[in-house]
Amino acid sequence: MDRGARSRMIIFGLEGTAWNLSAALVDESGAIYEKSATYTPARGGIHPREASQHHAEHMRAVVGDVLAQARQRGLKLEGVAFSQGPGLGPCLRTVATAARALSLRFDIPLVGVNHCVAHIEVGKWQSGARDPAVIYVSGANSQVLALRQGRYRIFGETLDISVGNAIDKFARSVGLAHPGGPKVEELARKAKNYIPLPYTVKGMDLSFSGLSTAATEAAGKHDLEDVCYSLQETAFAMLVEVTERAMAHAEKREAMLVGGVGANARLGEMMRIMCHERGAEFFLPPRSFMGDNGSMIAYTGLLMLKSGISTPLDQSHVRPGYRTDEVPVSWA
Ligand code: AMP
Ligand code: MG
Repeated sequence: MDRGARSRMIIFGLEGTAWNLSAALVDESGAIYEKSATYTPARGGIHPREASQHHAEHMRAVVGDVLAQARQRGLKLEGVAFSQGPGLGPCLRTVATAARALSLRFDIPLVGVNHCVAHIEVGKWQSGARDPAVIYVSGANSQVLALRQGRYRIFGETLDISVGNAIDKFARSVGLAHPGGPKVEELARKAKNYIPLPYTVKGMDLSFSGLSTAATEAAGKHDLEDVCYSLQETAFAMLVEVTERAMAHAEKREAMLVGGVGANARLGEMMRIMCHERGAEFFLPPRSFMGDNGSMIAYTGLLMLKSGISTPLDQSHVRPGYRTDEVPVSWA
């Protein structure tokens, strides 16, 4: 048996809101083990029903592998956390069904976790940020948030599609496979010119749809490298502007970048420069905790269980439109 296993609170977490089915074990001292199965669409973007079929097909192997690890290490599970939303309905239902079954099988509490809150909590845990303004940018979400009066309040967000979706859509339109984010970043490194593209910040909110379309149109007339670079520069400058204003409003001395698009080195660099210029500290969690992962759900479940929150079966329905600011953050 692992040393100290009796006094450790071990939580099993299950993520599967979109492209990544991922199960993990964590305790307070760290992420113990994680196993994932990634859905990659044969063509086009993520198809909700195909993604949920992928998750259903891989559920037994992914969950079984993590449970086998727990057994081998002599770890006793004390809770099952699952991503309750936001996300794609069919994917959420597949994940919730598996989580309910595990909770019943082991007779341990079930905890429904807000996926966006989990990105933030795992980011703080892994980067050491204490009270940051958060820029959360992923395939489905683009939000700027900060903890105020017990909730992660949304200071600004996209009014249409997320920045990740905008880049992925553009990438597909020029023949790059999904997900396009990393490929666009690679091409942008070789750029020589900046091409002006629509910069749309409305108050504290953002719009990326027109930018994505304009980049697609520009790709017919300019070098692809230059368009990739200009798309990134424009989109990221918009995000950094709103984050800086949120920091000023909420009087935060820290900023933290989370979500899959946070893996982009240029976005990290722009955030670092902005923070440096205003004498604030910038926090970036390790890459493995940036995109969707099971550890972030397990860790947030652990925080919730420790503060006395669990989810009865009859309240474990999926919540595709679950908003970040609906969650009372009683553990912070
Ligand atoms: P998530 O939904 O948080 O798992 O993040 C997935 C999104 O992150 C997709 O839109 C990817 O294209 C995007 N992404 C991943 N790596 C990068 C990168 N290096 N640069 C820009 N976007 C990225
Ligand atoms: Mg995500």
